[in-house]
This record gives sequence, structure tokens and C-alpha cells, in this order.
Amino acid sequence: MIKITADDIFDGRKFHGPDRALVLDDDGVVSALVPLSWVGEDYIKVEGVLCPGFVNTHCHLELSHMKGVIPEGTSLPAFLTAVMENRRPPAAEVLSSAIDSAAEAMRQSGIVAVGDIANTAATASVKHRTAQQMVWRTFVECMGVADAFAPHRLEHSLSVMAQFRQAGIPASLVPHAPYSVSPTLFRLINGLKSNGIVSIHNQESQAENELFRHKSGPFLEFYRHFNMDASGIGGSGTNSLPSYIGYFDQDQTLILVHNTFTSRSDVEAALARSGETYWCLCPNANLYIEGMLPDVPMLRDTPGVTITLGTDSLASNHQLSIWSEIETLRHKFPQIPLEEMLQWATLNGAQALGISDTSGSFEKGKSPGVVQILHNATKLLDQKALIM
Ligand SMILES: [Zn+2]
Repeated sequence: MIKITADDIFDGRKFHGPDRALVLDDDGVVSALVPLSWVGEDYIKVEGVLCPGFVNTHCHLELSHMKGVIPEGTSLPAFLTAVMENRRPPAAEVLSSAIDSAAEAMRQSGIVAVGDIANTAATASVKHRTAQQMVWRTFVECMGVADAFAPHRLEHSLSVMAQFRQAGIPASLVPHAPYSVSPTLFRLINGLKSNGIVSIHNQESQAENELFRHKSGPFLEFYRHFNMDASGIGGSGTNSLPSYIGYFDQDQTLILVHNTFTSRSDVEAALARSGETYWCLCPNANLYIEGMLPDVPMLRDTPGVTITLGTDSLASNHQLSIWSEIETLRHKFPQIPLEEMLQWATLNGAQALGISDTSGSFEKGKSPGVVQILHNATKLLDQKALIM
């Protein structure tokens, strides 16, 4: 039995104050959150705040070797060009060691579940090995701007997805971004049976909206640079999100990632579809690439919007820490209560990844992990060391 109290306890939805104790069984399964006076004398007291394990709903673990490689502040088309020209690692051991270290650092910082983008099966090994310590949901990313190659691109991504599924790692096939997926490829992805949760990079740059509105702007130069035929993409006359959201008509759960240049009417267009939609914010990556943040006050004020948090990758972030994302948001939006942001980081993320039956809150029967927040640092508590 584990009985633990702290200066405050956040349960996934709200703070409970200092006079509470969290009771877990020896396997870390929550029994109750009760008044401290109920648990007798033999409890452990820690400093700071206790919080359920963090859920990172957007990461690219396979880019972990790219820390510090890409310059900051270039804006998205130039960032993508640099990633595509630098992503090949020097050697397989260098990549796997960077992936292992990044996964371990995420766990140490309190992350217990990750929605992770994959273009290759490079992360299958660590996900298989650490499945007891971390909940992995893999989003195999498919891209292809030329309609003619859509079936071929889909087939390639399906073969990558099969490698994860064969290793017992839950995986779904997802479109990379509105500017990198042709209409036919969108339709093929939408039509997949038993696919699962879909995530997509949404409106990460103003250039994306410009492409869809006017078929102009920096993405045309990006396509030219790589000699891509993207003639089927853009020019709808509206922003990106309302242009492509209609492709998802199968009640899929959607995780829209970034939303840096998303307006209220874009949000409303997305909410009109059936199927759950989650709005994942990756503020540190937005500052790294675009120097901009989404309209977070608008998102939290719009009924029906559920916000989650992601770290994106070490190509566009200095660390993979959900707490660091919260600190950035607190600095920029001091009017938003910490309680609300912590729910984005825990329960909302667990709902987005479809794991809220086990993760995201201190509710009876769940095993969400316990994070200690102290002096602006976070760590996952070793529950075995707390057993009495
Ligand atoms: Zn991303």
C-alpha cells in the first residue's frame, strides 16, 4: 500500500489542497483520494504538488538525433527543407542511442504516455522494450503531394505500420499535413478500415493558409526546391482547416496539432464534423520555428474545444518535457489557471489517446503514475520506493 500526501494534489481536473492523501496499491493502482485524517499516521509526505503522469500527444521520437541541428526562427517551409536535408543520421547506433535517451528523459520528466509520429520503424525497438513503463500510441505518417503516387505512398506507410503492429505496438496511419498530402491520398487514408486515432499537423504556419486561400506563398517555392508536383493542393479560397476537414467523415478521433494560425471560424468548421476532435498545442516548437503561439485564449473560450499538449521533436525543441510546455504557456498567458493547463497535460491527453480508462487522473482503478512538481521541476515518483 502507498499513502502519500503533498502541499497540494491535482487529480486530473482540479486541486484538492494540502489535507488529502492519495492511496495506491503496490502496483500503483489508485484506491482513493481521501482526507489525510483517514489514513492514520503511516503516510509519506513530499514537498510540492502531486499530479497524474503527463500525456504527450505529439512527439517525433525518431528525430531525437537532430537536437540543435536546425536553426531557430526560420518559419515552417525553410524548417521542413532543413529537416528533409538533414534527417538521415550518421549511423544506426547514433539514432537508436538518441531515441533511447530521449524516451528515458521523457519518462524521468513525468511523461507516462506518448502519441508518437513515425515515418520509419526506428522507434519500434524502444517502444517494445519499454511498453511496461510507457504507453505508446504510434501514428505512422503518410505524405505525398502528387495524386498519381498516392496508392504507392499509402502502401509504403501501411508496411511501416505493420512492423509496429506485429511488435504489439498500437499504431494508426495518419496524414502528415494539409500541404503534404494530395486529395487522393487524403481519401485513401479516410477510407482505411480499423485505422484508429488520426493526427495531423494543422495550420502550423501562415504559409499553409496562404497556399489554401490563394495557391501562393512560400510553399510553392518549397515544392519547386524538391521538384514536387503539388498541383492538386491548395487554392480552395478558404483557410487550410476548412479546406481539408471534410476528408474525415468516418467519425474518426482527430488530434489537430499546432493550430498556430487557426481562427475561430476554422475551429467551428472542424467542430461541425462528427467524431471527437482534440487540439494539441506544442508551444515551444511554435516559438522555435515560427516565433508565434496559437490563439490559446480563443481556443479555451470556444465551447467544444478540448486542448492537449505535445512536445514535438528535438529537431524543434530543446527538451521533450510537458512541464516545459506548461511553463512557456504560463509565461505567455498568465491569466490561464495552472489547474486548467494541468488538465490539458493529463486527463485531456489521455482521452485523446484513448487511454483514459487507465491514465490521466487519480481515479479509482487507474494506474496513471505519480508526478511530483517542485520548484518548477517535475519528476516521476518511483512508486516501488513508496510502498509501506
Ligand atoms: Zn510534429
